[in-house]
Amino acid sequence: MTSTQHHVYSAIIIGAGFGGLGQGAQFMQDGVDDFLILERGDDLGGVWRENTYPGAACDTQAVIYCFSYFLNLKVSRMFAGQEELQGYLRELSEKFGLGDHLRFGQNVTDAQWDEDRLVWSVRTADGSQYLARSVVAAWGQLNEPNIPDFPGAETFQGVAFHSAQWRHDVDLTGKRVASIGSAATAVQYVPEAAKTASQLAVFQRSANYILPRDQRVFTEEETARFLADPDSYRELRRGIHEVREAGFERTRTHTVANEEGVELARQHREAQVADPRLRAKLTPDYDYGCKRILRSDDFYPALTRENVELLTERIAEITPSGIRTEDGVEREFDVIVYATGFKSHAFQGSTRVVGREGLTLDQRWGNAPEAYLGIAVDNFPNLFLVYGPNTNLNHNSVVSMLEPQHRYISQAVEYLTEDSSRALEVDRDVLERFTAYLQEELEKSAFTSECSSWYKNEDGRVINNWSGTVEEYRVETSELRLDDYRQLVAQGIRQ
Ligand code: NAP
Repeated sequence: MTSTQHHVYSAIIIGAGFGGLGQGAQFMQDGVDDFLILERGDDLGGVWRENTYPGAACDTQAVIYCFSYFLNLKVSRMFAGQEELQGYLRELSEKFGLGDHLRFGQNVTDAQWDEDRLVWSVRTADGSQYLARSVVAAWGQLNEPNIPDFPGAETFQGVAFHSAQWRHDVDLTGKRVASIGSAATAVQYVPEAAKTASQLAVFQRSANYILPRDQRVFTEEETARFLADPDSYRELRRGIHEVREAGFERTRTHTVANEEGVELARQHREAQVADPRLRAKLTPDYDYGCKRILRSDDFYPALTRENVELLTERIAEITPSGIRTEDGVEREFDVIVYATGFKSHAFQGSTRVVGREGLTLDQRWGNAPEAYLGIAVDNFPNLFLVYGPNTNLNHNSVVSMLEPQHRYISQAVEYLTEDSSRALEVDRDVLERFTAYLQEELEKSAFTSECSSWYKNEDGRVINNWSGTVEEYRVETSELRLDDYRQLVAQGIRQ
C-alpha cells in the first residue's frame, strides 16, 4: 500500500532479519519506540526466510547464535535448522512487540539525506515515502544470489535455480542433478539431495577445510533444565563462546593454532574418506582460514555414495542438455543447482543511498566499502549500518557481533532523539585511522592470503571480515564516543 508519511520517525530500520529485528528489540529495551522496520519480503527472518534448501541449518551452535537477552532456550539441537531459527526470530518479534513496527513488501529503493532538515527521506518501490532522523541499514551481506555467467547457461533445457531460491516444486527423485559449488551451502544440501537423486555431480572449484560438526539433539530433560534454570544454558553458552574465541588464533597465518586447524581438518578427511584419490581432491591447497571453515559430518560420506561424483574439472559451458567441462566431457543433467554464493560486496544492498552534497554510498566507497566500527560512514550523517563492512567472522557467531552493534546504534539514536537539531557524522580522520589499523591487523590473517573468497574484493582487500575477536569488538563498540563524530546543525556544521 502506498503511503506518504509526514511524521518524522526516530529511526527507520531496513531489513527484518537477525540484524534488523535485533535492532528493534534493542530499541524497545532502551525506550526508543518511534521506529519502523521496512522489509522487502512478505515475512520476517532474513536469510532464515530465504534459504529453505534441504538440510538448511546454522553451522554455528544455536546456543551462541541468539541474543544474550533473549536466549533460544527451547532450541531442539545444537545446530538448529532454518525453520527453528526463523521461529526464534518470530518469538523475538513477539516478545519485544515488533509486530506494530514491521511493514512488509517495502523494498527500499532510495534513502536521501535532507541537509536542511537533518532527516532521511526513505522511498520504497511502491512509491511510499517515510521520514526519519536516523536510518539503520540491516539489509545483510548475503542476500543477492550470485550466478556465474557460464557460456550457454540460457540454453539449458532442464531446471536451474540458485540455492537461496530453492524450487520445492521440483522433485529431485530419480533426477540427474548437478551442484555447482561445494561450500557452506552445498555441504548442507548435497547429503539430502544424494538420498533421492539418481545421480548427483558436485562441481568443486576449490576444496574446503571441513571440521566435524558433532550435532547434538537436546533431550527433554536438558530442555526442561534450560527453561527452569537459564543460568545452566548461559554456562554452556559461555563455554562454547570461549572455545570459539580461541579459534580466532587459528585464522592467523604462521601460528601453531593455524597448523592445528589444518591437522584437525586432515583427521576428519582421513576418518571419513577411505579413497586416497577422493581425499586428494578434497584437500585444500591454500591457508586454513582463508575461506570460511565448514562443519559437516555428512558431506564426505555423501560423496562416497555410488550415485555421487565429485568433479574438479572446470566448467567450460552449459549446454541445452547438461554441462561440458574443459576436458571436453559433456554430462547430461535434469537439474542444475547453483550453490555459488552471494554478491557479498554490495553493502548498499539494492538501495541508492544519497548523503551530504548528493554523494552516494556507491561513489563514496567504490569497490572498497569501509565504515567506522563497521557502522558509520563520513558524509552519511545519522546512517548506521548493521553487519556492515568488516564485521563478518570466520571463527565465532555473527550474532555475537550484531548485539554490540545494536547497543551502540541505540545509544546514538537515543542521543539524537533527545534533541532534533542534532545530527552525527563520523569524522573522516577517525574512520581512516580505524581502517588503517584494521587493514594492518588483517595482514596477519589468513583472510588476506591467496584463495578465492567472498571476504575480499577484486583487489584482494578484505572488506567483509573483522580483524580481531568478538571480545575486542565489544570493547571497541561499548561506548558511543561523541568525539569520534562531527555534530551537524541544520544548513551547516557546528564543529
Ligand atoms: P560461497 O561460500 O561463496 O561458495 C560458493 C561456491 O561456489 C564455492 O564452492 C565456489 O568455489 C563456487 N563458485 C563460485 N563461483 C564459481 C564459478 N564461477 N565456477 C565454479 N564454482 C564457483 O557461498 P555459500 O556456500 O552459499 O556460502 C556463503 C556464506 O553464507 C558462507 O560463507 C556463510 O557465511 C554463509 N552460510 C552460512 C551457513 C550457516 O550454516 N550459518 C550456511 C550456508 C551459508 P570457490 O571456493 O573456488 O570460490
